[in-house]
Amino acid sequence: MGIFSFGKKKSEPVPSAGASGLAGRPDPQGKNNFIIVILDSCRYDSFMKANPKTIQRLGKVEKRWSYCSWTGPSHYNLLMGLLPHTSPPQVFASEYYKEDFFNYNKRLGADGIEFAKLIPSLYLPIYLQQTMGLHTHAKVSLPVLNPKTPINRGFDTFKLMDKHNDMSAMLDDMTFPEDRPSFYLLNVGETHYPYATPDEDPKEWPRISGVHGVFKHLDDHIVGGELVTDEASPKFFDQEKLDLLRERQIHTVRYLDDVFERLFNMVPKNTWIVVTSDHGELFGEEGYFGHGPINHELVFEVPYLEGLVP
Ligand SMILES: [Zn+2]
Repeated sequence: MGIFSFGKKKSEPVPSAGASGLAGRPDPQGKNNFIIVILDSCRYDSFMKANPKTIQRLGKVEKRWSYCSWTGPSHYNLLMGLLPHTSPPQVFASEYYKEDFFNYNKRLGADGIEFAKLIPSLYLPIYLQQTMGLHTHAKVSLPVLNPKTPINRGFDTFKLMDKHNDMSAMLDDMTFPEDRPSFYLLNVGETHYPYATPDEDPKEWPRISGVHGVFKHLDDHIVGGELVTDEASPKFFDQEKLDLLRERQIHTVRYLDDVFERLFNMVPKNTWIVVTSDHGELFGEEGYFGHGPINHELVFEVPYLEGLVP
């Protein structure tokens, strides 16, 4: 059980409140499986410095911007179908959304998808499940996204992983039945504080004074966000330690590159994959650490790439 776990020891996938089984689900309307991988907290320049060769076989990395600065609202937003944006000047928001939604046609190997079709739920998993006829699954690492949250709508299964930092374990029971395409949301936690690979002994994890105090009270963590600091902490601005943490985040991206190799090898050829982050992370810049109640451009900068599995 990791530091993020709470309650029961094993988390089995649970049916979503919105799951209605396959009865009444329309015939599949698209050709592709679709996977969104969120590297939680991975800021753009960490990803670029890691330079993961396998992940980049998907396509060219773009610098994009998250709509939100922390996990909960960011995932809600992207499950509305709004992936991190390109911030184009002189374009109305409605025009941008329209164009952005049109991209789901190539992602799903379909045609006729437009923003208006998401009305009234305005929720991509519900649309994929009930209109596009996909199997829909979520595997998440962070308890703020646990299956009881409102994020869990329109999913056939929704699983909070036993460990917060094991993307490889998510792949173990991913299936792609031939009767219809599958959608997966994978919220990956290796890139989240404390930036640990699953083989690392938790005793070796770095301790930031003030942060772990919060993690002892997991309810606080769940309700209040992830990286709340203790104001009394005198060590908060230990830049050397924060530099080390940034290096650790970069290391987790390099580690994940091998897990992506496994993912690319196991999914069917007709699988479209998006890789991005839910927000960035601050490592001491202008006195900030982490993400959440921070208004700094680096908390919004995220990597973005997508394509058919190479
Ligand atoms: Zn996050």
